[in-house]
Amino acid sequence: MEVIQNVVCPFCGCCCDDIEVTIDSGKITGVKNACAIGMTKFLHYGDERNSSPMVRKNGELFKTTFDMAVEKTVEILTNAKYPILYGWSSTSCEAQKVGVELAEEVGGVIDNTSSVCHGPSIEAVQDIGESTCTFGEVKHRADLVVYWGCNPVQAHMRHLLRYSASCVGKFRKGRADRIIVVVDVRNSSTAKLADHFIQIEPNQDYEFISALRMAIRMEEIEQDSVAGVPVEKIEELADILIGCQFGIIFFGLGLTMSAGKNRNIDAALSLVRDLNSRTKFLIMPMRGHFNVTGANKVSAWQTGYPFAVDFSQGYPRYNPGDTSVIDILNRGECDAALIVASDPVAHFPQQAVKTLASIPVIVIDPHLNATSLLAEVVIPSAFVGIEAEGIVYRMDGVPLILKKLVEPSNGIHSDEAILRMILTQIRKRRG
Ligand code: SF4
Repeated sequence: MEVIQNVVCPFCGCCCDDIEVTIDSGKITGVKNACAIGMTKFLHYGDERNSSPMVRKNGELFKTTFDMAVEKTVEILTNAKYPILYGWSSTSCEAQKVGVELAEEVGGVIDNTSSVCHGPSIEAVQDIGESTCTFGEVKHRADLVVYWGCNPVQAHMRHLLRYSASCVGKFRKGRADRIIVVVDVRNSSTAKLADHFIQIEPNQDYEFISALRMAIRMEEIEQDSVAGVPVEKIEELADILIGCQFGIIFFGLGLTMSAGKNRNIDAALSLVRDLNSRTKFLIMPMRGHFNVTGANKVSAWQTGYPFAVDFSQGYPRYNPGDTSVIDILNRGECDAALIVASDPVAHFPQQAVKTLASIPVIVIDPHLNATSLLAEVVIPSAFVGIEAEGIVYRMDGVPLILKKLVEPSNGIHSDEAILRMILTQIRKRRG
């Protein structure tokens, strides 16, 4: 029996790096420190696992060899004129790096899941800039934490415990040293733990932030209420924000994906800028998948752009709304798709799924998912962070190393190794 310390959890963007995993006879038999979601991933990653590469013949998926599945993939991508390469948030930076090279080689579009989650946040940061920090600074210094449009108690279960509300920092010793504010459209589990809960009307975040900015600048709000919140309460919140020594806003899809999208984040970033003229204030998006931050970083290092990068002209182009995968699928323009560590059929709008169903799709994923069911080629891969090592970026931009804990089944390779083989064969074929 072996106990491995300081394991990084490959589930959500918190990337908790204090997990202890017990291995017995090549199997994970015990997990300490993880939340219920992380523990389930470590203990049940192998349930209902697909271990066979498959290709479609006469409308049905048949088991095949790994080499045949790679060969078919190479054929599809080589013949495609405008392929899309999508997913990438639940794999390593090393795999993402090969993915960008592959997209350039085949003249396709590489896009990651931030296109349908925090893409608008990234666009807003490009417009306004951002005052941010690492979790370490929040833990040691923050005396005011605002959760806006997110519910970490259910989605990032150890966020409050490890990084914000209850952790013991150098200058803040626990929950009593911190004020927690929740702004949301519903009384969520996180709101129930907060010192102040501001319930706003749905799709009114922009108006509410604008009113809050006025209150912070001591301007008169000529309304009785904004977004369903009485002006006195907005002024009270402004006083709380100004009164802290070190404040941070963590925001989620409730702010990013509600009406206004990137304009909401423009307003939130501007609010933080205003607050910095009165006190110290920072802001950070709550990223979902464990390496969606890495997907943006790797894409930006290699192409200059964080998502939705189009290589069809021979150089990288970035124009979200035009070069993002959902828009390309909605217009029916792509003629093949490589999906890595993602399940767009389960999440994309109907028109986009219809296009996916009409073109050859290759899926590289540890599990059979809804997208696999319409794929032309399915290649099972190793779980990064359990069966393969790799680098990930935590939601605050800190890189961490995922460990390999157990051996994958025979013939199962990492995403990086599979993509490298595909890229090598495509280059060989093209001479
Ligand atoms: S909070 Fe996220 S990273 Fe931490 S243990 Fe839970 S699922 Fe894993």
